[in-house]
Amino acid sequence: MDHGFGSWATIHHLRNADRVAYVDGLAGVQTTYAQLEERTNRLADALRAKGVSHGERVALLCLNSPQMMEIYLAVAKLGAISVPVNFRLHPDEIAHVLSDSGASLLFVSTPFVDAATQALASGTSVRETIRVPALAEREAGEGGDYEPLVSSGASERVVADVGHDDVCVIMYTSGTTGRPKGAMLTHGNFFYNAINAMGFASGIGRTDVTISAAPLFHIGALGVHTLPFLFVGAGVVVIEAFTPDQWVEAAARHHVTQAFLVPAMWAAVAASPALETADLSSLRLAISGGAPCPLPVISAMKSHGVAFTEGFGMTETSPNAACLQPEDVVEHAGSVGRPVAFMDFRILDEMDQDVPVGHVGELCLRGPSVFVGYWDKPEATAEAIRDGWFHTGDMARVDEEGFYSLVDRKKDMIITGGENVYPIEVEQVLYGHPDVVEVAVIGVLDETWGETVAAVVVRAADSSLTADGLREWARERISHFKAPRRVAFVDELPRNATGKILKRELRITEGGGHTAVSR
Ligand code: ATP
Ligand code: MG
Repeated sequence: MDHGFGSWATIHHLRNADRVAYVDGLAGVQTTYAQLEERTNRLADALRAKGVSHGERVALLCLNSPQMMEIYLAVAKLGAISVPVNFRLHPDEIAHVLSDSGASLLFVSTPFVDAATQALASGTSVRETIRVPALAEREAGEGGDYEPLVSSGASERVVADVGHDDVCVIMYTSGTTGRPKGAMLTHGNFFYNAINAMGFASGIGRTDVTISAAPLFHIGALGVHTLPFLFVGAGVVVIEAFTPDQWVEAAARHHVTQAFLVPAMWAAVAASPALETADLSSLRLAISGGAPCPLPVISAMKSHGVAFTEGFGMTETSPNAACLQPEDVVEHAGSVGRPVAFMDFRILDEMDQDVPVGHVGELCLRGPSVFVGYWDKPEATAEAIRDGWFHTGDMARVDEEGFYSLVDRKKDMIITGGENVYPIEVEQVLYGHPDVVEVAVIGVLDETWGETVAAVVVRAADSSLTADGLREWARERISHFKAPRRVAFVDELPRNATGKILKRELRITEGGGHTAVSR
């Protein structure tokens, strides 16, 4: 027996053969653990025949599907490395991920074949592309290049030399603070993440059913749900593309017991008319993570009888790092909760010394689910992991009861006249103005102050709000050094593919400090 996550299906094939591992969307075509084991063994065998060996990279430009999960498992069985690619990226960015990771094989869902062709035209190491059918094609009995690989051939268990220290996934970060970096995650990272998720999610058992609707190229969907459920032999309903109505229908129809979504998706579910009539009585836990979840969304879900938890983590931590339990989610709103079982937290100052309780410093993490480094970036790795502690780039504080709160990203912090300003605090004040639709606060270079606080604002369509008016509003509510000295109005803010605002781009267009002053 190998010790990788590819063996998780093997374990349940022996003990849990007839239990359902996957349900393919609303239509509900089911794959049992026995079938999953057979299909992933065949796929691993076919990949081996194509020359895929230990440590080799296999890229996935795929829509959520049982097939995508099978690829992750088969690649893991060989000791090879999956490289999921965000399908919302531009073809040039896809090409960057393919070249950067040196992937030799590319699985691509039919709708992304054109993007893949464009990306491959720039010249990458990919030697073969395998087309994976989309849901509509699967329903029409069309299998693409994929189905022949899993429906015939050797189905015996594939035994490769795979251990906890082997890398099994290179997952690119969201690219909020810079170019996405490939976080190398090991079999051991996912094993301990599953253990953390079980504790974190109030105990996942094999009778649980989850719904995998957030994109599986992102660590939230893969690591909070999906993999931990396979670890215990539970069921996963895989949804190709999230819409709130379809999510509610799938959750009700398949008696989903626990589910993860990012806050924007929970907001859409909470506002969905389908929620009013659906029977979600089996849903005992809703989990949000990746960004702060607004309290009204939590309250709306709670009013439907669903317990709600917030999780905090990142790509580099596979991702479960902290959580706010259902009983704390309202009382400690704004906090990301307490650390999960196997994760050590410290808050350090610039000299890597612990700061006192209540003081702000950089959140640093250590534990068996923390990544081993950035792919092909030894300098970035040495900068991030110092003395065994992963320096997250998130500024945080902890209170007397051990609840952690994020203050802002370290790269976003503004130093003006020697004072630290955390943009999120200023943004929260500006969001209080009725005409402010969206706002990003950044530091811009200033001869007198080093940096000065600037706000880039999207106004309501009919608003007559002026820069002076907004400055005045802020100065009445916040210290003068925190209030923006400069205000620029724009039509929209630049965002990355996961919806996070790209302050680094604003700094370039607004002449911001960090492009010239690095820290
Ligand atoms: P990059 O590292 O490329 O700049 P990113 O940090 O946004 O991008 P991810 O790994 O997807 O990439 O996101 C992790 C970050 O998301 C965390 O470091 C934190 O800043 C934020 N985050 C995660 N969970 C929460 C949460 N519950 N509340 C607030 N922020 C969160
Ligand atoms: Mg990050």
